[in-house]
Amino acid sequence: MFVIDRRICACCHNCACECPAQAIDFVGTKYQIDQEKCLQCGLCAKVCHTGACHEEGAAETIIYHDPITLDADVVVVGSGSGMVAATRAAQAGKKVIVLEKSSKSGGNTDFAHGFMTPYSKWHERLGFEDTRENMVEMTYERGGRIIEKDLIRTAIYGVSDFFDWLCDHSDIEKTFNLKDPNDSNFVGPAFAAGMAEMPFRQRDNLLCRDDAIGPGWGGTFVKYTCFETIERENLDVKLLLRTAAEHLILDDEGKICGVEARDPGGVVKINCKAVMLACGGFGRNDDLLRKYADFDFFGGETEIHRFSVPGDTGDGITMLQELGVEPNPERMTVSMFGPKHHPFNNSLADFALEAEFIQVNMNGKRWIGEMNNGIMFGYSQKISEQPKEISYAIMPYDQLKACAERFVADPRQWNKKHFYATWEEDIEHEATLDTPVKKADTLEELGVLIGADPKVFVDEIKKYNSFCEKGVDEDFGKDPRFLIPIPLDKGPYYAVYGQRFSEAAMGGVTVNNKTQVLRNDGSIIPGLYAGGDCTSAMHRKGELAPLSELTWAMAASYVAGGNMVRYIDGKEEKAGGEA
Ligand SMILES: Cc1cc2nc3c(=O)[nH]c(=O)nc-3n(C[C@H](O)[C@H](O)[C@H](O)COP(=O)(O)OP(=O)(O)OC[C@H]3O[C@@H](n4cnc5c(N)ncnc54)[C@H](O)[C@@H]3O)c2cc1C
Repeated sequence: MFVIDRRICACCHNCACECPAQAIDFVGTKYQIDQEKCLQCGLCAKVCHTGACHEEGAAETIIYHDPITLDADVVVVGSGSGMVAATRAAQAGKKVIVLEKSSKSGGNTDFAHGFMTPYSKWHERLGFEDTRENMVEMTYERGGRIIEKDLIRTAIYGVSDFFDWLCDHSDIEKTFNLKDPNDSNFVGPAFAAGMAEMPFRQRDNLLCRDDAIGPGWGGTFVKYTCFETIERENLDVKLLLRTAAEHLILDDEGKICGVEARDPGGVVKINCKAVMLACGGFGRNDDLLRKYADFDFFGGETEIHRFSVPGDTGDGITMLQELGVEPNPERMTVSMFGPKHHPFNNSLADFALEAEFIQVNMNGKRWIGEMNNGIMFGYSQKISEQPKEISYAIMPYDQLKACAERFVADPRQWNKKHFYATWEEDIEHEATLDTPVKKADTLEELGVLIGADPKVFVDEIKKYNSFCEKGVDEDFGKDPRFLIPIPLDKGPYYAVYGQRFSEAAMGGVTVNNKTQVLRNDGSIIPGLYAGGDCTSAMHRKGELAPLSELTWAMAASYVAGGNMVRYIDGKEEKAGGEA
């Protein structure tokens, strides 16, 4: 029997999208298999990003072994963004071992859509202006002047070099027609605007029906580019799955000389000259969340969704604590968003954020002046104050239809419009489930379905309609352009569920602009590098990175890959921008 382990499920959506029997749906807060519909084909287990889908009771073959000792030049801990460093170091002739604690490669990187690419050889060829220094200044300001400029520079110049490398090692330019901006198939503007968002969901059997989270975007593209490069160039990279790094080993001079890890069968010791920590954040470590989140992560009635992969348990922090290095809480971030909620159909969640709809709490009362993305990013604290921290977007059929048609017709939605086009089928499907969508013919019935007093709910709608008539939202001051009355007797009506979710918890390992790990006194640990979510580079307490997280992860991994080689070869490490 195939089942989904709820503790491990990261809501990546793949199983539900792939299941030929449509036996998997979002129930409560996680995915679940309807055993009566299940065909036992096992496809869910194959596509599961985290190993949560598995065959219950299937005998696991563990080969217990005495401690094993391996030799390498470089060890990379974590197979998300770390794959870039691994590939680069191997291209310079180094023997590389990548340790991955999970049974799947990719980490959160495999979930992420895009990274910022402000400038590259491609931009240069097309005559775009080099705005990197402006971006350094802008990012510095956005980061509250706290994030060091030299680190920002490493991120911005490093990601440019990384992007050139990606172009050289993949078919990205051809696929995205990055040649002629006047060609109608040119999708470069997405890049020129800085966002390299790549809809590669067709890879690896990931024919997802919408753009909810899960592998298949920019991060996946990078992962595959690394794997393909390793294969094509016959590089010396070994990826050890289900092998968690546990201890860093230093020699008598305090330099890195190895890593002690553990696979299901026992201890694996690797002698090496350099290590990169790319082991992600701490979004799956409850103790660290209690300690470092600037809000009560476990204080609500409704469990906060965690989208980070199960391997993100803050091991970078604990391995460094063993060496007497403590994290700086002022440079750690636990992200929290809401009420957008996208384990289920993401198109519906996108519509639900549009300003023409209203958001009500479980008492049937509005709680914000709905202004699109502000709802997702700016209101997670406000939603914490609502009953059970839950919100519903109220959508009359005609308004929803108009909204969906607008999305499909919008040229800016070039990469998503085919997902939006199936909105009607999607919402009907979701309405058959328990959590995501409630559907009713009357507003009174809808009020009951969301748990509110129907009279209170309908009165709230009437009050809102009176605001629409006056053109003034007396409760929340919503922009009058979006004050569209809700018809009282023209169903069906839908209520789309939203709650808080956390994408990741980041920070803990301090690095300099050469991606070298620093002790609390500012000295380096020779041979030790780090990048991505385990680092405190781009993060401040309670704030998102001023530059996208994946941008830093890619840049840092690219830079660290080059620097580990230089270190081993006895040359000086470089900051970002190696070109
Ligand atoms: C759903 C989702 C969507 C996102 N979308 C975006 C986006 O669009 N743009 C953006 O900029 N950012 C996005 N992010 C954030 C982005 O994915 C991360 O910032 C980035 O992937 C971090 O890369 P990383 O290599 O540090 O960590 P990860 O990619 O998480 O990799 C860490 C890996 O290390 C492994 N590991 C942990 N401990 C050990 C150990 N002791 N030994 C061996 N292996 C270990 C983990 O299992 C994991 O596979 C998103 C995150 C999520 C969850």
